[in-house]
Amino acid sequence: MESKRNPLIIGAGPAGLTAALELVKRGVTPRIFEASAHVGGLARTPTEGDWRVDPGGHRFFTRSEEIADLWRSLLPEDQWISVHRRSAMLVDGRYVRYPLVGRDLISQLGFRSGMRGLTNFLWSRLRSRVRSTDALSSFREWGTEQFGRHWYELFFDGYVRKTWLADPGTLASDWANQRIKPISWRTPREEIPRPEDAFRYPKYGPGQLWEAAAAALAGFGVVPSLNSYVTSVRHVGRTWTVELQNGETASGDTVFSSMPLRLLIESLEPAPPKRIREIAASLKHRSVITVAVALTEHHDIPYNWVYTPGEEFRVGRIQNYRRWSSALAPKNWNGTYLGLEYYTQPGDDLWVVSNESLGDIVEQDLRTLGVEGSALDHCMFVRSQFAYPINDPARDQSVATIRDYLRRIHPSLHPMGRNGMHHYDNQDHAMLSALRSVAQYFGANVDPWQVNTERGYLESGLIKG
Ligand SMILES: Cc1cc2nc3c(=O)[nH]c(=O)nc-3n(C[C@H](O)[C@H](O)[C@H](O)COP(=O)(O)OP(=O)(O)OC[C@H]3O[C@@H](n4cnc5c(N)ncnc54)[C@H](O)[C@@H]3O)c2cc1C
Repeated sequence: MESKRNPLIIGAGPAGLTAALELVKRGVTPRIFEASAHVGGLARTPTEGDWRVDPGGHRFFTRSEEIADLWRSLLPEDQWISVHRRSAMLVDGRYVRYPLVGRDLISQLGFRSGMRGLTNFLWSRLRSRVRSTDALSSFREWGTEQFGRHWYELFFDGYVRKTWLADPGTLASDWANQRIKPISWRTPREEIPRPEDAFRYPKYGPGQLWEAAAAALAGFGVVPSLNSYVTSVRHVGRTWTVELQNGETASGDTVFSSMPLRLLIESLEPAPPKRIREIAASLKHRSVITVAVALTEHHDIPYNWVYTPGEEFRVGRIQNYRRWSSALAPKNWNGTYLGLEYYTQPGDDLWVVSNESLGDIVEQDLRTLGVEGSALDHCMFVRSQFAYPINDPARDQSVATIRDYLRRIHPSLHPMGRNGMHHYDNQDHAMLSALRSVAQYFGANVDPWQVNTERGYLESGLIKG
């Protein structure tokens, strides 16, 4: 092992564990500090007995062979399953396939709605030929341009309002190119499973991969310190010192940080200039509460997940866990296992509500879904505070200003990952930013901030092998 290097890592989520694996590969032993009692971050699998919850609905796909290889190296082949993606929007009591299919839109929601949608769509297409939506347009402009006003309002406006807790006119649209597929006009009526619509998934949920990563690290003597919330990050001379909530400290030559960028700036000593602190304070997140309910009765919902954009639902999206992996529920159990996702913000009414009161909201949503009256076998509440870095139009500029400041003043401090860089990344991009940060630490001329900035990248791929 290289002795002069002594890196510290904040966070044992996908980015932190990936950085640690790469450091170990290069002969360096890092120390990892994790605030919570588990590894895996947002991609953990909370477990009670034989019940497991995926707090995201984590599809594993990547265009990066490097990441696909890393995933394969951590979990043996027999622990991966291939899941066919089937998702739908539940609108006016009807399941409409998602990604949207032209023929369904015209035929499924009634003649008048179909014709109105088609006319609006054709009009928006015509308009887009003469006027291109630029990269900085709001989500509402982008959505109206892509889908026409009627279908945008039916499927996306309410959903985005509910999930991002903001008016779509104030949200940037850059992420939408990645996350929202255009209407398909060629998909046949009968759904034929296509290999590109499948994704891989660890049999016991996403956390299985990250527990395997932690086990691999333990083999090199690297064990994350759990329940170790970093409260301050100090730089004196060439030494970095992190201080934990319990007063303990650890020092090293560099810090890889996957803690939220806003909190990193807040905890930096010496404190950055007021302007940088103010910009960091403007970076916002939203949170997700996942309520996993296991109903005794079997309801046939033929989708992995269902979006619920309408106001009749408080819930934003519903996961159908047994369609992800039957191993998320006990063996031979044959009921309905759903994960209801509630989007909220730390400190707002829903975030602070008791499990009991939340249970009443869940019951109402289950009634609207039409699966009420079934006995409850099990229920779990999972709260993810920093679930989504919010994309407001100022975000890019704010993050770039902080990035440039850190590059200039603290080149040995490496923010990485989804919240670390305040970028709406999936696991593979969080991991790539960690790999690039470690490469940079070893002197490579790479820029981790460039990961996942490609416009037009579509999340359709299936990881190979
Ligand atoms: C609802 C939802 C659905 C998703 N779906 C997918 C999907 O389908 N596919 C996919 O690939 N990805 C998906 N993701 C994204 C995926 O979860 C993230 O990209 C990934 O977890 C980011 O890894 P990370 O290490 O950067 O951050 P995190 O997972 O947030 O890990 C950061 C870690 O740092 C710790 N930490 C924070 N502050 C401190 C501190 N001060 N001191 C010590 N430790 C600290 C946290 O406790 C956490 O464990 C989804 C996420 C959500 C919320």
